[in-house]
Amino acid sequence: MLLHLVGSLVVLLASCGFVKASEKWGYSSEEEEDGSPRTPANWSLSYPNCGRHNQSPINIDSKYVTVDRSLEEILFVDYDDYPTNQTWKLLNNGHTVQLQANFSHPPQLHAGGLNAKYEFIQMHFHWGEDDFEGSEHRINSRKYPLELHLVHKRRGSGRTLATGIDIKASLLAVVGIFFDLQVDDNEDIKPITDALSRIVNPDEPVLIDLPTFTLQSLLPVQRDYFRYDGSLTTPPCDAVVQWSVLSQALSISTAQLTSFRKLRHHTHGTTVPAAYLNLNNVTAVEVAVNETALHDEDNYIIRNFRPVQDLGDRRILQYSSTNAARVDRPPSMATETEAESGAAKDGSSSSPGKSKKNSAAAVGGGWSVVLSTMVLAAFFRF
Ligand SMILES: [Zn+2]
Repeated sequence: MLLHLVGSLVVLLASCGFVKASEKWGYSSEEEEDGSPRTPANWSLSYPNCGRHNQSPINIDSKYVTVDRSLEEILFVDYDDYPTNQTWKLLNNGHTVQLQANFSHPPQLHAGGLNAKYEFIQMHFHWGEDDFEGSEHRINSRKYPLELHLVHKRRGSGRTLATGIDIKASLLAVVGIFFDLQVDDNEDIKPITDALSRIVNPDEPVLIDLPTFTLQSLLPVQRDYFRYDGSLTTPPCDAVVQWSVLSQALSISTAQLTSFRKLRHHTHGTTVPAAYLNLNNVTAVEVAVNETALHDEDNYIIRNFRPVQDLGDRRILQYSSTNAARVDRPPSMATETEAESGAAKDGSSSSPGKSKKNSAAAVGGGWSVVLSTMVLAAFFRF
């Protein structure tokens, strides 16, 4: 009887929205018939924008890609600068790993056909249950095991934008970078993957010294990109992002990928509201035990990628530094194998700074920081 009562209360409290939806959304692959946002297919029930237009990620299908010869390379300005004290804040926010730092002059994106100049604010990763999935974007349906998102916000008020530019839709510029599997560790990302063991539990950030690490460590040598207008890939899914998905992948080992999957997300037990705990001490204990037992096995962030969304009537543009040689070929996926192997053309660095190696690294987090930033932009509603 007591158990029956407990079960009823849990259902009642959940159905009343007593447990904040914002704490519950997730990436479960199981069908959830109760409308829970724990599965991406249900996000739109709690976050309507997730069911609207211009959503991300997408499958970048060569049939819908146009090489745009008017596009320029993206300039990654000050990407080789170190943050204050070479210190980065590393956070497991329960959905992903996020890296932030204080810079005297934040790294920026210039040119590249972007509507404005954009300033780096954070980076985070998306991964999967095994080494054959994990990326959010796909290239001709191909999945990669990891995708890095370098998130930038527009500088200035937007009033400097050219006529006809959608101010809200160009609020953020995110660069997506794939990682492909290789046997050996990627030494550039190793300082970060090694530090993941320090943030196994969510919401317990650590400061780490990375004396040799700069954002440029995370850029492939060749920086051809696909451009399309899209959204945040997590709730609330606002369509405010100019996406640049690089076609050349970095590398990562199985061991390094595994370190991401050892991070824990928020347990359902932590979302039991205080009011409920006051109902009956015995009941509260039983609920806590039951929740732990029920969710122990999937208590890890083993996948955090959103499924691909409809392209709709959007166009995907491609900047290709060598497109003159590929006139009759499908866009650089002609070239999927190039992306896979990291076949380098001598990718001259687009940064005005020092050039660096072609490997990976990184860590990043969720959109919470982005959203905090966006809230500050008073004329947008989030
Ligand atoms: Zn992301």
